[in-house]
Amino acid sequence: MSDGAKPARPFAYTCPICGGAMQNGEDERGPWFQCHTGHEFSAGDMDERMTAMVDRALSGALRVLDERALLCAQFADAATRAEEPGLQARWLDLQEEVEMKAQVVSGLIDRGWPAPAAG
Ligand SMILES: [Zn+2]
Repeated sequence: MSDGAKPARPFAYTCPICGGAMQNGEDERGPWFQCHTGHEFSAGDMDERMTAMVDRALSGALRVLDERALLCAQFADAATRAEEPGLQARWLDLQEEVEMKAQVVSGLIDRGWPAPAAG
């Protein structure tokens, strides 16, 4: 992923508890989901757990982006002390890029989630 490639869209769901492969279908109660170890979820459970997974992933991404911005600032300071202005400028540019991405992720977190439309 360091080349900027995006992950392919999944063909199937993974279990929010164990990460295992899941089967899904629909019966008279609506959509159902079950992993190979037996964890079962209704549509509402699956939606709630996936939402929580996305929230955790976004929070984790924001934390790492904040750490990377701090790292860039530290390296820029080191480049300043080493009297390497070109290197300092590159670290500051990268810090700015990382902070911009952190703002985008923070905005996604702040945006929250709309409730699914009533069926
Ligand atoms: Zn499972």
